[in-house]
Amino acid sequence: MKISFAHIGYATMAMERLLQDLGHEVIPPLQPTANTFSLGAVHSPEFACIPFKILMGTYLEAMERGADALLSAGGRGPCRAGYYGEIHQRILRELGHEPRLFFFWPPYQVPLDTLKKLNGLRGKTSWLQMVRYIKKAWKMMIALDDLEILSHRIRPLETETGATSKAFRQALGYIRQARTLEEIEEASIAGIERLHQVPQDPNREVLRVGIVGEIYVQIEPAANFFLEEMMGEMGVECHRSIFMTNYVRHDVFSRHGDLSARELAQPYLPLNIGGHGQNSIGDVVRFAAKSFDGVIQLAPFTCIPEIVAKSMMPHLSQELDIPILTFFIDEQTARGGVETRLEAFVDMIWQKRALRNAGSRSVFDRAKIPGDRGLAPVSSR
Ligand code: SF4
Repeated sequence: MKISFAHIGYATMAMERLLQDLGHEVIPPLQPTANTFSLGAVHSPEFACIPFKILMGTYLEAMERGADALLSAGGRGPCRAGYYGEIHQRILRELGHEPRLFFFWPPYQVPLDTLKKLNGLRGKTSWLQMVRYIKKAWKMMIALDDLEILSHRIRPLETETGATSKAFRQALGYIRQARTLEEIEEASIAGIERLHQVPQDPNREVLRVGIVGEIYVQIEPAANFFLEEMMGEMGVECHRSIFMTNYVRHDVFSRHGDLSARELAQPYLPLNIGGHGQNSIGDVVRFAAKSFDGVIQLAPFTCIPEIVAKSMMPHLSQELDIPILTFFIDEQTARGGVETRLEAFVDMIWQKRALRNAGSRSVFDRAKIPGDRGLAPVSSR
Protein backbone atom coordinates (compact mmCIF):
# COMPACT_ATOMS: atom_id res chain seq x y z
CA MET A 1 0.00 0.00 0.00
CA LYS A 2 1.41 3.41 -0.98
CA ILE A 3 -0.23 5.76 1.43
CA SER A 4 -0.46 9.52 1.68
CA PHE A 5 -2.41 12.08 3.69
CA ALA A 6 -3.01 15.81 4.01
CA HIS A 7 -0.11 18.09 4.84
CA ILE A 8 -0.83 19.31 8.39
CA GLY A 9 1.92 21.72 9.31
CA TYR A 10 4.96 20.32 11.07
CA ALA A 11 2.94 17.42 12.52
CA THR A 12 3.17 15.91 9.02
CA MET A 13 6.56 14.57 10.08
CA ALA A 14 5.09 12.58 12.99
CA MET A 15 2.34 11.12 10.82
CA GLU A 16 4.86 10.10 8.17
CA ARG A 17 7.02 8.37 10.80
CA LEU A 18 4.02 6.50 12.23
CA LEU A 19 2.97 5.16 8.84
CA GLN A 20 6.54 4.16 7.99
CA ASP A 21 6.85 2.35 11.33
CA LEU A 22 3.69 0.44 10.46
CA GLY A 23 5.48 -0.82 7.37
CA HIS A 24 3.77 1.27 4.69
CA GLU A 25 5.40 2.91 1.76
CA VAL A 26 4.60 6.55 2.43
CA ILE A 27 4.16 9.12 -0.31
CA PRO A 28 4.88 12.19 1.86
CA PRO A 29 2.40 14.97 1.13
CA LEU A 30 3.96 18.07 -0.38
CA GLN A 31 3.57 21.33 1.47
CA PRO A 32 0.73 23.13 -0.35
CA THR A 33 1.81 25.58 -3.05
CA ALA A 34 -0.05 27.87 -5.45
CA ASN A 35 -0.33 24.82 -7.71
CA THR A 36 -2.01 22.80 -4.92
CA PHE A 37 -4.48 25.66 -4.31
CA SER A 38 -5.44 25.92 -7.97
CA LEU A 39 -5.51 22.15 -8.61
CA GLY A 40 -7.82 21.73 -5.63
CA ALA A 41 -9.98 24.70 -6.60
CA VAL A 42 -10.47 23.41 -10.16
CA HIS A 43 -11.73 20.04 -8.90
CA SER A 44 -13.80 21.16 -5.90
CA PRO A 45 -17.29 22.65 -5.58
CA GLU A 46 -16.93 26.42 -5.95
CA PHE A 47 -18.20 27.20 -2.44
CA ALA A 48 -16.27 24.49 -0.62
CA CYS A 49 -14.08 25.89 2.13
CA ILE A 50 -10.37 26.35 1.38
CA PRO A 51 -9.13 23.43 3.54
CA PHE A 52 -11.32 21.13 1.40
CA LYS A 53 -9.74 22.53 -1.77
CA ILE A 54 -6.19 22.36 -0.44
CA LEU A 55 -6.72 18.74 0.64
CA MET A 56 -8.21 17.97 -2.77
CA GLY A 57 -5.12 19.41 -4.47
CA THR A 58 -2.79 17.57 -2.07
CA TYR A 59 -4.53 14.23 -2.72
CA LEU A 60 -4.34 14.72 -6.49
CA GLU A 61 -0.64 15.54 -6.26
CA ALA A 62 -0.11 12.42 -4.13
CA MET A 63 -2.03 10.24 -6.60
CA GLU A 64 0.13 11.56 -9.43
CA ARG A 65 3.17 10.53 -7.38
CA GLY A 66 1.86 6.98 -6.99
CA ALA A 67 -0.29 6.94 -3.85
CA ASP A 68 -3.06 4.31 -3.84
CA ALA A 69 -4.35 4.89 -0.30
CA LEU A 70 -5.24 8.01 1.68
CA LEU A 71 -5.54 8.68 5.37
CA SER A 72 -7.93 11.41 6.41
CA ALA A 73 -10.10 12.50 9.32
CA GLY A 74 -13.08 14.71 10.01
CA GLY A 75 -15.49 15.79 12.68
CA ARG A 76 -19.15 14.97 13.05
CA GLY A 77 -20.18 18.37 14.25
CA PRO A 78 -22.41 20.82 12.40
CA CYS A 79 -20.01 21.79 9.62
CA ARG A 80 -18.63 20.43 6.36
CA ALA A 81 -15.71 18.55 7.92
CA GLY A 82 -17.96 15.53 8.29
CA TYR A 83 -18.43 15.31 4.53
CA TYR A 84 -14.77 15.64 3.53
CA GLY A 85 -14.03 11.90 3.15
CA GLU A 86 -17.15 11.11 1.16
CA ILE A 87 -16.91 14.07 -1.21
CA HIS A 88 -13.14 13.84 -1.75
CA GLN A 89 -13.52 10.17 -2.61
CA ARG A 90 -16.37 10.80 -5.06
CA ILE A 91 -14.38 13.48 -6.86
CA LEU A 92 -11.27 11.31 -6.99
CA ARG A 93 -13.35 8.47 -8.47
CA GLU A 94 -14.82 10.77 -11.10
CA LEU A 95 -11.25 11.70 -12.03
CA GLY A 96 -10.35 8.04 -12.49
CA HIS A 97 -8.61 7.36 -9.15
CA GLU A 98 -9.64 4.54 -6.83
CA PRO A 99 -7.72 5.15 -3.62
CA ARG A 100 -8.35 3.05 -0.54
CA LEU A 101 -9.55 5.61 1.99
CA PHE A 102 -9.02 5.39 5.74
CA PHE A 103 -11.29 8.13 7.04
CA PHE A 104 -11.32 8.51 10.81
CA TRP A 105 -14.11 10.07 12.87
CA PRO A 106 -13.49 11.09 16.50
CA PRO A 107 -12.86 7.71 18.20
CA TYR A 108 -15.20 8.35 21.15
CA GLN A 109 -18.12 8.68 18.72
CA VAL A 110 -17.46 5.52 16.71
CA PRO A 111 -15.04 3.31 18.69
CA LEU A 112 -15.68 0.13 16.68
CA ASP A 113 -15.29 1.89 13.35
CA THR A 114 -12.00 3.39 14.62
CA LEU A 115 -10.70 -0.02 15.69
CA LYS A 116 -11.66 -1.51 12.33
CA LYS A 117 -9.74 1.18 10.46
CA LEU A 118 -6.72 0.95 12.78
CA ASN A 119 -6.74 -2.78 12.16
CA GLY A 120 -6.62 -2.13 8.42
CA LEU A 121 -3.72 0.26 8.89
CA ARG A 122 -1.61 -1.86 11.24
CA GLY A 123 -0.92 -4.55 8.62
CA LYS A 124 1.33 -7.21 10.18
CA THR A 125 2.22 -5.07 13.20
CA SER A 126 0.91 -6.35 16.54
CA TRP A 127 -1.51 -4.17 18.48
CA LEU A 128 1.06 -3.72 21.25
CA GLN A 129 3.72 -2.61 18.81
CA MET A 130 1.24 -0.27 17.14
CA VAL A 131 0.55 1.41 20.50
CA ARG A 132 4.33 1.88 20.93
CA TYR A 133 4.58 3.48 17.49
CA ILE A 134 1.65 5.80 18.26
CA LYS A 135 3.34 6.79 21.51
CA LYS A 136 6.52 7.60 19.61
CA ALA A 137 4.63 9.69 17.04
CA TRP A 138 2.92 11.52 19.91
CA LYS A 139 6.32 12.33 21.51
CA MET A 140 7.45 13.64 18.16
CA MET A 141 4.36 15.84 17.86
CA ILE A 142 5.00 17.30 21.33
CA ALA A 143 8.63 18.03 20.41
CA LEU A 144 7.55 19.69 17.15
CA ASP A 145 4.95 21.87 18.89
CA ASP A 146 7.45 22.87 21.59
CA LEU A 147 9.99 23.93 18.97
CA GLU A 148 7.41 25.91 17.04
CA ILE A 149 6.19 27.71 20.17
CA LEU A 150 9.76 28.56 21.12
CA SER A 151 10.44 29.89 17.62
CA HIS A 152 7.44 32.22 18.01
CA ARG A 153 8.95 33.60 21.24
CA ILE A 154 12.46 34.08 19.87
CA ARG A 155 11.74 35.43 16.37
CA PRO A 156 10.60 38.95 17.43
CA LEU A 157 13.81 39.30 19.47
CA GLU A 158 16.26 38.14 16.77
CA THR A 159 18.93 40.63 15.79
CA GLU A 160 19.41 39.13 12.32
CA THR A 161 16.23 38.78 10.26
CA GLY A 162 15.58 35.17 9.30
CA ALA A 163 18.00 33.68 11.86
CA THR A 164 15.18 32.07 13.88
CA SER A 165 13.56 30.53 10.84
CA LYS A 166 16.90 29.10 9.79
CA ALA A 167 17.55 27.67 13.27
CA PHE A 168 13.98 26.32 13.43
CA ARG A 169 14.42 24.43 10.16
CA GLN A 170 17.67 22.95 11.43
CA ALA A 171 15.90 21.89 14.63
CA LEU A 172 13.15 20.26 12.54
CA GLY A 173 15.91 18.35 10.73
CA TYR A 174 17.14 16.93 14.08
CA ILE A 175 13.63 15.63 14.84
CA ARG A 176 13.27 14.20 11.35
CA GLN A 177 16.40 12.10 11.82
CA ALA A 178 15.35 10.73 15.24
CA ARG A 179 14.21 7.11 15.15
CA THR A 180 13.65 6.07 18.78
CA LEU A 181 12.00 7.70 21.80
CA GLU A 182 15.44 8.47 23.24
CA GLU A 183 16.59 10.01 19.98
CA ILE A 184 13.46 12.16 19.82
CA GLU A 185 14.19 13.39 23.34
CA GLU A 186 17.81 14.19 22.43
CA ALA A 187 16.77 15.86 19.16
CA SER A 188 14.23 17.96 21.02
CA ILE A 189 16.87 19.18 23.50
CA ALA A 190 19.34 19.85 20.67
CA GLY A 191 16.66 21.75 18.73
CA ILE A 192 15.79 23.92 21.75
CA GLU A 193 19.50 24.67 22.27
CA ARG A 194 19.87 25.55 18.59
CA LEU A 195 17.00 28.04 18.82
CA HIS A 196 18.48 29.60 21.95
CA GLN A 197 21.71 30.19 20.01
CA VAL A 198 19.90 32.71 17.78
CA PRO A 199 21.38 36.15 18.56
CA GLN A 200 18.67 38.09 20.38
CA ASP A 201 18.01 41.47 21.91
CA PRO A 202 16.28 40.51 25.18
CA ASN A 203 15.44 44.15 25.96
CA ARG A 204 13.49 44.77 22.77
CA GLU A 205 9.85 45.66 23.30
CA VAL A 206 7.56 43.27 21.42
CA LEU A 207 3.86 43.11 20.74
CA ARG A 208 1.81 40.06 21.66
CA VAL A 209 -0.90 38.92 19.29
CA GLY A 210 -3.22 35.91 19.67
CA ILE A 211 -4.22 33.77 16.70
CA VAL A 212 -7.70 32.23 16.62
CA GLY A 213 -9.78 30.59 13.92
CA GLU A 214 -10.25 27.41 11.94
CA ILE A 215 -7.81 24.60 12.68
CA TYR A 216 -6.33 23.88 9.24
CA VAL A 217 -5.54 27.48 8.34
CA GLN A 218 -3.99 27.91 11.80
CA ILE A 219 -1.85 24.76 11.81
CA GLU A 220 -0.69 24.64 8.18
CA PRO A 221 1.63 27.62 7.64
CA ALA A 222 1.33 27.38 3.85
CA ALA A 223 -2.43 27.93 4.21
CA ASN A 224 -1.87 31.24 6.03
CA PHE A 225 1.17 32.35 4.00
CA PHE A 226 3.53 31.80 6.95
CA LEU A 227 1.77 34.58 8.80
CA GLU A 228 3.44 33.82 12.15
CA GLU A 229 6.90 34.09 10.59
CA MET A 230 5.96 37.36 8.91
CA MET A 231 4.64 38.76 12.17
CA GLY A 232 7.63 37.55 14.16
CA GLU A 233 9.90 39.42 11.79
CA MET A 234 7.74 42.51 12.35
CA GLY A 235 8.48 42.26 16.11
CA VAL A 236 5.29 40.45 17.12
CA GLU A 237 5.16 37.44 19.43
CA CYS A 238 2.36 35.18 18.16
CA HIS A 239 0.35 32.94 20.47
CA ARG A 240 -1.65 30.49 18.42
CA SER A 241 -4.71 28.97 20.06
CA ILE A 242 -4.54 25.59 18.27
CA PHE A 243 -1.58 23.25 18.02
CA MET A 244 -1.81 19.62 16.99
CA THR A 245 -1.20 18.33 20.52
CA ASN A 246 -3.90 20.40 22.22
CA TYR A 247 -6.29 19.61 19.36
CA VAL A 248 -5.74 15.87 19.92
CA ARG A 249 -6.25 16.27 23.67
CA HIS A 250 -9.37 18.41 23.41
CA ASP A 251 -11.10 17.24 20.26
CA VAL A 252 -9.92 13.76 19.29
CA PHE A 253 -9.95 11.95 22.62
CA SER A 254 -12.60 14.06 24.30
CA ARG A 255 -16.15 14.90 23.35
CA HIS A 256 -16.00 18.23 25.18
CA GLY A 257 -13.48 20.24 23.18
CA ASP A 258 -11.47 22.97 24.89
CA LEU A 259 -13.68 23.49 27.93
CA SER A 260 -11.94 26.65 29.09
CA ALA A 261 -12.46 28.34 25.70
CA ARG A 262 -16.09 27.22 25.58
CA GLU A 263 -16.72 28.55 29.06
CA LEU A 264 -15.18 31.91 28.20
CA ALA A 265 -17.38 32.09 25.09
CA GLN A 266 -20.60 31.41 27.04
CA PRO A 267 -21.74 35.03 27.53
CA TYR A 268 -21.40 35.69 23.80
CA LEU A 269 -21.98 32.35 22.07
CA PRO A 270 -23.37 29.61 24.30
CA LEU A 271 -23.75 27.07 21.45
CA ASN A 272 -21.30 24.81 19.68
CA ILE A 273 -21.62 25.95 16.08
CA GLY A 274 -19.14 23.42 14.67
CA GLY A 275 -15.47 23.66 13.80
CA HIS A 276 -13.71 25.97 16.23
CA GLY A 277 -16.16 28.88 15.95
CA GLN A 278 -17.02 28.89 19.63
CA ASN A 279 -13.33 28.52 20.55
CA SER A 280 -12.53 31.59 18.45
CA ILE A 281 -14.83 33.65 20.65
CA GLY A 282 -13.55 32.13 23.91
CA ASP A 283 -9.93 32.59 22.88
CA VAL A 284 -10.47 36.27 22.05
CA VAL A 285 -11.78 36.70 25.61
CA ARG A 286 -8.73 34.83 26.94
CA PHE A 287 -6.26 36.92 24.96
CA ALA A 288 -7.98 40.14 26.02
CA ALA A 289 -7.84 39.03 29.66
CA LYS A 290 -4.10 38.47 29.29
CA SER A 291 -3.67 42.03 27.97
CA PHE A 292 -2.64 40.96 24.48
CA ASP A 293 -2.18 43.77 21.99
CA GLY A 294 -4.44 42.24 19.36
CA VAL A 295 -6.00 39.15 17.87
CA ILE A 296 -5.97 37.75 14.35
CA GLN A 297 -8.81 35.51 13.24
CA LEU A 298 -7.94 33.11 10.43
CA ALA A 299 -11.06 32.03 8.58
CA PRO A 300 -11.48 30.02 5.40
CA PHE A 301 -13.79 31.77 2.95
CA THR A 302 -17.31 30.22 3.33
CA CYS A 303 -16.40 28.59 6.67
CA ILE A 304 -19.72 28.72 8.48
CA PRO A 305 -18.44 28.54 12.10
CA GLU A 306 -15.89 31.29 11.49
CA ILE A 307 -18.43 33.48 9.67
CA VAL A 308 -20.66 33.29 12.75
CA ALA A 309 -17.68 34.04 15.01
CA LYS A 310 -16.63 36.93 12.77
CA SER A 311 -20.05 38.54 13.12
CA MET A 312 -19.32 38.94 16.85
CA MET A 313 -15.78 40.26 16.50
CA PRO A 314 -16.66 44.00 16.26
CA HIS A 315 -18.69 43.74 19.47
CA LEU A 316 -15.94 41.76 21.25
CA SER A 317 -13.29 44.17 20.07
CA GLN A 318 -15.19 47.10 21.52
CA GLU A 319 -16.30 45.47 24.75
CA LEU A 320 -12.92 43.86 25.53
CA ASP A 321 -10.90 46.76 24.19
CA ILE A 322 -8.77 44.65 21.86
CA PRO A 323 -8.11 45.14 18.12
CA ILE A 324 -9.14 42.16 15.97
CA LEU A 325 -8.21 41.57 12.34
CA THR A 326 -9.97 38.85 10.35
CA PHE A 327 -8.47 37.20 7.28
CA PHE A 328 -10.85 35.28 5.07
CA ILE A 329 -8.63 32.97 3.04
CA ASP A 330 -9.44 31.48 -0.35
CA GLU A 331 -7.57 30.50 -3.51
CA GLN A 332 -7.47 34.17 -4.57
CA THR A 333 -5.65 35.26 -1.42
CA ALA A 334 -2.02 36.21 -1.98
CA ARG A 335 0.92 36.68 0.35
CA GLY A 336 1.42 40.32 -0.67
CA GLY A 337 -2.11 41.27 0.37
CA VAL A 338 -1.78 39.46 3.69
CA GLU A 339 1.55 41.17 4.39
CA THR A 340 0.22 44.65 3.62
CA ARG A 341 -2.75 44.24 5.93
CA LEU A 342 -0.52 42.82 8.67
CA GLU A 343 1.83 45.80 8.45
CA ALA A 344 -1.08 48.20 8.85
CA PHE A 345 -2.48 46.19 11.77
CA VAL A 346 0.90 46.07 13.52
CA ASP A 347 1.33 49.86 13.09
CA MET A 348 -2.10 50.40 14.59
CA ILE A 349 -1.51 48.18 17.64
CA TRP A 350 1.86 49.87 18.32
CA GLN A 351 -0.04 53.15 18.50
CA LYS A 352 -2.59 51.59 20.81
CA ARG A 353 0.22 50.20 23.02
CA ALA A 354 1.67 53.70 23.23
CA LEU A 355 -1.71 55.08 24.29
CA ARG A 356 -2.12 52.36 26.87
CA ASN A 357 1.36 53.04 28.26
CA ALA A 358 0.41 56.71 28.45
CA GLY A 359 -2.43 55.77 30.79
CA SER A 360 -5.54 55.56 28.64
CA ARG A 361 -8.32 53.52 30.24
CA SER A 362 -9.25 49.90 29.65
CA VAL A 363 -12.93 49.06 29.95
CA PHE A 364 -12.42 45.32 30.51
CA ASP A 365 -12.04 43.83 33.98
CA ARG A 366 -9.15 41.41 33.41
CA ALA A 367 -10.29 38.69 35.78
CA LYS A 368 -8.27 35.57 36.42
CA ILE A 369 -8.55 33.62 33.16
CA PRO A 370 -6.80 30.33 32.32
CA GLY A 371 -3.76 30.60 30.04
CA ASP A 372 -3.62 29.65 26.37
CA ARG A 373 -1.77 26.65 24.97
CA GLY A 374 0.85 28.91 23.48
CA LEU A 375 1.96 30.41 26.78
CA ALA A 376 4.23 27.54 27.75
CA PRO A 377 5.75 24.54 26.00
CA VAL A 378 3.97 21.24 26.77
CA SER A 379 7.08 19.77 28.37
CA SER A 380 7.31 22.52 30.95
CA ARG A 381 3.68 22.26 32.11
S1 SF4 B 1 -14.59 24.38 10.17
FE1 SF4 B 1 -14.99 25.69 8.38
S2 SF4 B 1 -13.30 25.32 7.01
FE2 SF4 B 1 -13.28 23.65 8.48
S3 SF4 B 1 -14.53 22.07 7.49
FE3 SF4 B 1 -15.92 23.23 8.78
S4 SF4 B 1 -16.80 24.78 7.38
FE4 SF4 B 1 -14.94 23.97 6.39
